[in-house]
Amino acid sequence: TERTLVLVKPDGVARGLTGQVLARIEAKGYRLADLRLLHAERAVLEEHYAEHRGKPFFEPLVQFMLSGPVVAAVVEGDRVIEGFRSLAGTTEPTTAAPGTIRGDLGRDWGQKVQQNIVHGSDSPESAEREIGIWFA
Ligand code: ATP
Repeated sequence: TERTLVLVKPDGVARGLTGQVLARIEAKGYRLADLRLLHAERAVLEEHYAEHRGKPFFEPLVQFMLSGPVVAAVVEGDRVIEGFRSLAGTTEPTTAAPGTIRGDLGRDWGQKVQQNIVHGSDSPESAEREIGIWFA
């Protein structure tokens, strides 16, 4: 079994989509191992998004992630890292496949750059690193 870090980002929480996101995770057979609603601290976000430091969207992304509460979850299951990224859909909601969280629920990225409802770790190494950051 494997673990991943899932975030429901401020747009998802503000739009009342937390339940739908968690329901899709549970319906797929994954297990919630830990769950928190919190306002992220800047230091946590800078560490979480360290790979994007220096990119033009870094500061707007951090600002967006500070704009409201987020839900952080540790989700467990066989191949959950790959499985959750498949449930989430590709980064841009505009073109994410229907049937995915971002494809079904995401707003067009023309107006709402950065906002794509969820985050999921992209590798076992990232998952352990990110779980350590959010559940220190
Ligand atoms: P996530 O890591 O959130 O699951 P991802 O792996 O598809 O999504 P990354 O490339 O890791 O996306 O980017 C992290 C986040 O930064 C994205 O989810 C999005 O919110 C934002 N982002 C990525 N690329 C851009 C961009 N070109 N313009 C604006 N925001 C972006």
